[in-house]
Amino acid sequence: MFWGGLSRGFISLSPMLGWGADELLQPDERARQIQLASGIGAAVALPFVIRNGFISPLPVVAAVELATVLLLLLPAFLLAHRRRFLTLAESLVLLAGYVIFGVLLIFRGVQGTGMFWALLFPFLCFFLKGQLMGWLYSLGFIGFASIYLFFLRFHLGIGFDYSQTYAIHYLELLCGFTVVAAGFNLLRTRFEERLQVRVAEETAVAKSYLTQIQYQASHDVLTGLPNRIELVHRLSQQMANAGGAGLVVCNLHVRRLHELSNILGHLGGDQLVLSIAEKLAASIGSQGILARTRRDEFVVICPLEPQGPEALALRRQIEQRQFGVEVQGYTLYVEFSVGVSRYPGHSTDASTLLKQAEQAMLQARKSDLPWLLYDPAQEQAFQRHHLLFSLMCEALAKEEFDIHLQPQVDLVSGRWIGAEALCRWHHPAEGHIPPGVFIPIAEESGLVDPLTDWLMDRCVRELRQWRAMGLELGLSINVSALTLLSPNFSDKIRACIERHGVPAQSITLELTESCFMNSLDRSLLVMHHLRSVGFRFSVDDFGTGFSSLSYLKHLPIQELKIDRAFVHKLLAQPGDQAIVTSTIGLAHQLGLTVVAEGIEDAASAAWLAARGCDAGQGYWFARPMPTTDFVQMAMAQRAEAVSSVSAV
Ligand code: C2E
Ligand code: MG
Ligand code: MG
Repeated sequence: MFWGGLSRGFISLSPMLGWGADELLQPDERARQIQLASGIGAAVALPFVIRNGFISPLPVVAAVELATVLLLLLPAFLLAHRRRFLTLAESLVLLAGYVIFGVLLIFRGVQGTGMFWALLFPFLCFFLKGQLMGWLYSLGFIGFASIYLFFLRFHLGIGFDYSQTYAIHYLELLCGFTVVAAGFNLLRTRFEERLQVRVAEETAVAKSYLTQIQYQASHDVLTGLPNRIELVHRLSQQMANAGGAGLVVCNLHVRRLHELSNILGHLGGDQLVLSIAEKLAASIGSQGILARTRRDEFVVICPLEPQGPEALALRRQIEQRQFGVEVQGYTLYVEFSVGVSRYPGHSTDASTLLKQAEQAMLQARKSDLPWLLYDPAQEQAFQRHHLLFSLMCEALAKEEFDIHLQPQVDLVSGRWIGAEALCRWHHPAEGHIPPGVFIPIAEESGLVDPLTDWLMDRCVRELRQWRAMGLELGLSINVSALTLLSPNFSDKIRACIERHGVPAQSITLELTESCFMNSLDRSLLVMHHLRSVGFRFSVDDFGTGFSSLSYLKHLPIQELKIDRAFVHKLLAQPGDQAIVTSTIGLAHQLGLTVVAEGIEDAASAAWLAARGCDAGQGYWFARPMPTTDFVQMAMAQRAEAVSSVSAV
């Protein structure tokens, strides 16, 4: 019972005594402690050397104190400064403590400040050597003091003359201070331990967050596939490991994903993407890399083995361009547009290869092809495209655009009845850029709307001037499909004619068949609205759009313009003659006037007039010209007509 209680007490006391509580200080911290202790020790000891040596002459004490500073504290300080032999340095400091406090005890008496310093010694032991060694050094000093006080002092009479009561009080205090120092040091080390554990826990949490963030930054959240950033990294690695073997980089654009996701809802759309990712992953095999780089874009990288199983499966899929995916009980057919680039043939840089595959994919989409291999010549076209786009933005701001007018002529009387406004762009450095080049770029980039706004304003101003001069000519303006469907188009052109006081009847809007192919209903809505205001409509480039003739009867149009492809070799091509003749007949039966464009010779003009074509346009009559020239010629022509009428 007693022994059990004793052992339990001992166990609960054991950390206090030092088991398991030794500090594991970093070398830097240990060195700093040694420097601090030896520095303070030397600073305190040196004044005593002077006092004991010169003021109250105790030469032996002064000599021992000086020797302690020079032989123990100074070397300890230097060793700590150089971060060498730290254990030895700590022992030197404690040995110095033994010597100084021993001398103090034997020769000087531990009264007054001496007593105070000697009681601090256990703290020094625990601070420097940790819990276990701190106890050993402190107990050693207690042992030394006991031996001196009770044996050497009282029995042999060596040293300072203490009273027995004083000696006992001193030893009691020394023991008490040792326990306090041990407890204090224990608290200190425990606190540090807890701090270290806490820091380790917090660091682990921060690390796991960091890992999560790194994962999210490099992977697609939905599929868990690598994203573009990670793909560049992996592709670089794959190229480094390829050892000269080739790789194929395929950029797969999932067609109509947006529409399908809309139909399926948010969750269904996600499911669809996951199923596509699964199918693709299954088809590329272990050697390939699959990544999701955009919402509707995947990238597949495979070794370039033309007959290898992965390449074959991939090629088959590319060729088929579609596969069935089960979502919400439906089988949906997913189609891809694929762009392919090759390593090392096209580039040896990962980002460039990805960009090239993407460019090829965009080109495939544009040309409505299932897949396309990257073509370096295309790169130049792309760059030119981007250059022209940025130049166009500037050109709009600087008003570098202009209009040229090409007359439309009554094929029977030869009179000018109107004109077509054709946009012209003369860039100061690039020179003349034809509309066939910049209009498609403007349409793709959305710049066609501001361009049409500017052009419309310019044309309506022109019409106002003509009317002021007595020129009663109509003006045809080309309107692209996108502009017709842009939200404020009809409001804007109404506002424009009202601003300038020009009747809508003098403006014909030329639309191509592409306007009706994609969104017939919306186009009809806008056209009916504009027609009710008085604008005329003409179908431009008629016959080239592959669209059905049935739309003609639904459209509020007044004119058909036969494309110049059927006109410019009219007399040599019986097929063109048949098409033109039947188009004229069809148009007249529907109550439409017919304009033939691209007339380059008198014989074609006569042939068309004989077949009942109402009007013509082409180099034979006049090329497109600046507005001032047009006005001059139109005025001259009118004067001629007036004089011939008065002559009659
Ligand atoms: P388009 O509307 O069919 O214009 C007729 C094109 O035929 C004009 O080419 C004109 O210069 C050309 N042309 C006229 N007579 C002849 C001829 O006898 N022989 C030959 N070989 N060509 C003739 P341009 O000015 O180069 O315009 C090309 C196309 O660019 C236009 O075809 C039109 O679709 C588009 N475009 C021009 N200006 C504008 C515009 O302001 N807005 C929009 N959206 N498109 C425009
Ligand atoms: Mg036209
Ligand atoms: Mg045309």
